Amino acid sequence: MKLVYVAMGSNIGDGRKCLLSGIKMLETFALGEIRYSSFWNTEPVEMIDQSWFTNAVVEFYTDLSPIDLLKSLQMIENNSGRPSNHLRNASRTLDLDIISYGNYVLETDFLELPHPRARQRLFVLIPLQELAPEFQFPGDDRSLSDLIQVAPSIKIERLDYLS
Ligand code: ADP
Ligand code: MG
Repeated sequence: MKLVYVAMGSNIGDGRKCLLSGIKMLETFALGEIRYSSFWNTEPVEMIDQSWFTNAVVEFYTDLSPIDLLKSLQMIENNSGRPSNHLRNASRTLDLDIISYGNYVLETDFLELPHPRARQRLFVLIPLQELAPEFQFPGDDRSLSDLIQVAPSIKIERLDYLS
């Protein structure tokens, strides 16, 4: 059983609803409770179009292998209306990225752990810090505050409503 962190993002439709329904689907295979951050509105970066995102990070335990976890997340993305042949930087109803899987370090063509771009993304780091302030990336002794200080700045605002 491994502790995993998954980053969620949506910039098509009602982001809050997309994230909440994604969490419901994660519940079907997560072991125990899923803990999740607040939802955050964030400015798009590296994207083809300009719609803002709703982002969050969730934490849960799983007994799926890393590959099976990735496949399950991709099934949820597809069920949420994200075409599987999407362009990398296209808008999406739901994007699910594995930020970390226990302390695994892995580099294959279709799965890298920890996620290779998470440390530069405030829309991952800020919700992650809210959820797990002591989190450290495997093999990296910097704190989340250290990483947040040097990450490229983006506009990010916490949604006040209760999820
Ligand atoms: P992005 O999340 O960067 O916007 P995609 O969701 O289109 O891009 O993902 C592109 C590919 O990234 C996926 O097909 C998946 O195989 C690969 N990938 C590599 N490492 C990870 C990871 N840690 N979590 C999720 N996907 C990953
Ligand atoms: Mg993704």
